[in-house]
Amino acid sequence: MAFGAKKSGSGGRGRGGTSRTGSAAGGDRAGAAGGQRRSLFRRRKVCKFCADKIDDINYKDVKLLQGFVPERAKVLPRRISGTCAKHQRKLRVAIMRARVLALLPYAAE
Ligand SMILES: [Zn+2]
Repeated sequence: MAFGAKKSGSGGRGRGGTSRTGSAAGGDRAGAAGGQRRSLFRRRKVCKFCADKIDDINYKDVKLLQGFVPERAKVLPRRISGTCAKHQRKLRVAIMRARVLALLPYAAE
């Protein structure tokens, strides 16, 4: 019986087509094991201002700022926007200034 089982197992190997599924399973395993590396198919978030080479964020550029201020008028967190720390800080200042000038709404109304 045991031999028969072995044979069937080898037969599974012999299919060839299983090698695909086998590799897929291996990939899953690797993903589970390497929890640190989460290589999902997200696009790399590059800071918009770095990409456009904008050093100084102008608070008068309301259209630009609005992209980082959702409806609740909170500043979009860096995790979502992908803005780097340097530009996030400048962006926040610009948004605050824009709020003072009533170009953007305040969070609390
Ligand atoms: Zn940046």
